[in-house]
Amino acid sequence: MPTTRTLDDQYGRTARDLRVSLTDRCNLRCTYCMPADGLEWMPTEQALTDEETIRLIRLAVETLGIHQVRFTGGEPLLRKSLEDIVAATKQLRIDGSGTAPTTALTTNALGLAKRADALAEAGLDRINVSLDTTSPELFTRLTRRDRIQDVFAGIDAALAAGLTPVKVNAVVMPGVNEDGILDLVDFALDKGLQLRFIEQMPLGPREKWKRGDMVTAHEILSRVEERFTLTPAEKPRGSAPAALWNISDETREGTLGVIASVTHPFCGACDRTRLTTDGAIRACLFSKTADEVSLRDLMRAGASDEELADAWAQAMWLKKPGHGIDDVGFLQPERTMSEIGG
Ligand code: SAM
Ligand code: SF4
Repeated sequence: MPTTRTLDDQYGRTARDLRVSLTDRCNLRCTYCMPADGLEWMPTEQALTDEETIRLIRLAVETLGIHQVRFTGGEPLLRKSLEDIVAATKQLRIDGSGTAPTTALTTNALGLAKRADALAEAGLDRINVSLDTTSPELFTRLTRRDRIQDVFAGIDAALAAGLTPVKVNAVVMPGVNEDGILDLVDFALDKGLQLRFIEQMPLGPREKWKRGDMVTAHEILSRVEERFTLTPAEKPRGSAPAALWNISDETREGTLGVIASVTHPFCGACDRTRLTTDGAIRACLFSKTADEVSLRDLMRAGASDEELADAWAQAMWLKKPGHGIDDVGFLQPERTMSEIGG
């Protein structure tokens, strides 16, 4: 077993949260994430196998100080072995202690209705469902697929399976879904979901994002306050990206999160490390492909766990201080969000 250590960087941050992209494929085509067509899928042999994926998760949890593992993609429910990978992760113990890592899933919820129970049984602790509108017509335009009823069914199944609190992530896009902000709040309060609005980031097709056009966290909160009372939640924010609010009207109450990734970046408190579908470590969503370190290539060349851990630690040590979206000369990452793992 390699020596235990943590994934530190030069700016005093330590990664505790591992995001694993389980596939670059998806059954939706959200306009801010993927082009309508023309994106080529990664050839199967380039993607990590289940064994390779679990080997790297084990290394991260048992020896590199990772406390939470979140599965994402592409659409992670398209990975047939998802339940097995969750179960294998849940059996690990952090740094040889008695504590299992927290497991989480970010999903569009298509097909979740059939799998929520099995995922809960496998040891899934948390789930985030992405839903940007409650309007069937707008959903179809935004995702280019007529599947909102599957998302609703998936959310109900997650609630019934006890995967609570079910969080719903909504990206707010100028002139697209900003008028539906209050409908999303109503939907979340009625169902007991924790809604989190997210500022759109420059990650999808290039013409889809303009700094001057974006709907800011401040504007989102102003809209919500037209009908609801907001008070800051007491829980400290820590490394969690969402600023949390208690939200209520005359009859309902709940929690609302707002993730101001662009206007109030949380890079200084970032505790994430990312593993792409093809086995590369990305220190940041906005890293350059040239800065990725392929653990897959090292593994396939026969590297030991100690060598893999060294390469992972080195990749994180070089993590940049921030995403630099506001810098002159900022360049969007070459890979789309679906390829990196959101
Ligand atoms: N397919 C799954 C889903 O949609 O939840 C997991 C992968 S998806 C890339 C992860 C998250 O990234 C989703 O919540 C999605 O809304 C978000 N996302 C994608 N493109 C984005 C962008 N340009 N800005 C902000 N969030 C984005
Ligand atoms: Fe698919 Fe998620 Fe990207 Fe939408 S945001 S296209 S569901 S990967």
